[in-house]
Amino acid sequence: MISHLFYQHDLSTVANLFVCVLLLTVVLAGCAKTDTLEKEKIEQETFGTLEDGREVSLFTLTNANEMEVQITNYGGIVTAIRTPDRNGNMDNVVLGFESLDKYTAGTPYFGALIGRYGNRIADGQFTLDGTEYQLPQNDGNNHLHGGEKGFDKVLWDAQPQDDGSLKLTYLSEDGEQGYPGNLDVAVVYSLTDANELKIEYEATTDKATPVNLTNHSYFNLSGHPDSTILGHELKINAAQYTPVDNELIPTGELKDVAGTAFNFMDFNEIGARIDQVEGGYDHNWVLSRNSDDSLFHAATLYDDTSGREMKVLTTEPGLQFYSGNFLDGSMQGPNGAPFVQHAALCLETQHFPNSPNEADFPSTILEPTEIYQTTTIYEFSTR
Ligand code: BGC
Repeated sequence: MISHLFYQHDLSTVANLFVCVLLLTVVLAGCAKTDTLEKEKIEQETFGTLEDGREVSLFTLTNANEMEVQITNYGGIVTAIRTPDRNGNMDNVVLGFESLDKYTAGTPYFGALIGRYGNRIADGQFTLDGTEYQLPQNDGNNHLHGGEKGFDKVLWDAQPQDDGSLKLTYLSEDGEQGYPGNLDVAVVYSLTDANELKIEYEATTDKATPVNLTNHSYFNLSGHPDSTILGHELKINAAQYTPVDNELIPTGELKDVAGTAFNFMDFNEIGARIDQVEGGYDHNWVLSRNSDDSLFHAATLYDDTSGREMKVLTTEPGLQFYSGNFLDGSMQGPNGAPFVQHAALCLETQHFPNSPNEADFPSTILEPTEIYQTTTIYEFSTR
């Protein structure tokens, strides 16, 4: 009996010890895994120095599939998205540069965060609560992408997060580029293990102001911007678009895409009907969503040469499809290839252009009592 008890005791001690060792191994393994993942997920290096002496960083976000996204806090610019083709070859699928001076010299908003108001405001004017505001007219008669010095040209505060995402913040002061109110902006870029680049925008203000934030990445899914995107196939889940005048200002009408070159309800090759659109595609599509503001599958872009596909999901009501019409070969990529017309395209999730002057468009006015919150996801896969 006694020996039996001892035996049982011994057994349970061994078992306990075994369980302890097992638990310890699991915990240690867990820690080691998190450590490596976190280290792999976000890295920071110097990208250069601005004329006023401020240091600019370049952040590299990496996921478990070794997909990589590089972002600088100058303009919140996405400088590279490296993602596999159908054979597993990694290529950069956005137009970008490897040095800060190329960006400070001026680009057509390559990869940048756009604000305070993405897209155009007619004559740079709007009236809010009885006050008339005049913004810089930096695109002919009109105001484009936040003005002479929009959010694409400012240095954002960068805070790499424990989960591997990158938080960028910026205080746009009352009166900056003519806009009313101190606007506190936060943008979080995350790269998920599902190969999604997720962009979460948040803003608050102390005076009513128009806000329309977006990202201006130029995609060429082939990874070779010396070929154009005219052979890419595009599907946009929108039954209507906003027609524009000759200055690309919406007329105010919502027009059905059916029977026009703007019908991308099914996959269509971009080059197939582009000649029917004067100047090429540079229009806002009215997403066929319910009135709610949940994530909506806005568009899918596919390149058959590489097999890469990109889905765009957004909480926004509109999507600007810009087919890189103004690229003219004067800028070259890191491998020397010129960025020719249609070398890449933009799919900018947004509220409709000129909304502050169109009472029937969804409102872009942020009140001090509100929080501006939108999310856009670019999800990469192959087929
Ligand atoms: C606009 C184009 C403009 C381009 C600037 C796009 O968002 O729709 O008209 O030329 O940005 O590169």
